[in-house]
Amino acid sequence: MQPLIFIRGKPFLFHINIYEQNFNHSIEKLLGQIFMSKTNDTPTVRIENYLETIFQVIQRKKFAQVKDIVEILGVRPPSVTEMFQKMKERGYINYERYSGVTLTEKGKTLALKIQSRHQIIKDFLMILDIGERTAIKEASEIQHNVSEETIDKLILFIDFVKKSKKTGGWIDHLDYFFKTGEYVECQPANRENCPVHSWKQKMIH
Ligand SMILES: [Zn+2]
Repeated sequence: MQPLIFIRGKPFLFHINIYEQNFNHSIEKLLGQIFMSKTNDTPTVRIENYLETIFQVIQRKKFAQVKDIVEILGVRPPSVTEMFQKMKERGYINYERYSGVTLTEKGKTLALKIQSRHQIIKDFLMILDIGERTAIKEASEIQHNVSEETIDKLILFIDFVKKSKKTGGWIDHLDYFFKTGEYVECQPANRENCPVHSWKQKMIH
């Protein structure tokens, strides 16, 4: 049976193994551990946005300052200082007041993950014929709410599209459909007579 505990009025179940492994600890300590691990390892959307921004600045000039973040995110300096402090406490950045910010290993690992997630969603949106500017902007909003499972599938989808672009199959027809709204069946054996593939040739030359 799993022990049932109430936290802030809500029933809270945790796995019996965790309970047994920690039977020497008091319930408060045990809950503290569970809560700590949850709050420490789940970055907020705001932290993710800051991390990504800091990472971009660091790639350009080795460290990030309050004014860089103010410029890019359009926030007020006191909020940046406060956020830097919070991120330092959670082990994402190295930060001393009045000096630049760099990323810790933990921060860098997460920043890389966020950056690749951003890139994947941007690539996907661009396959849907969405302009780069919009794709970048919307990817940064979507990325916070996408599961690992979806990201994995998107990676495979993008890879498939890239590969099929080399041979110019259905992907040209999808592109044509986005631009004209007209669905044309393609006959691979008769591609030279295909209106879409001859249209693509005209677009290239
Ligand atoms: Zn065709």
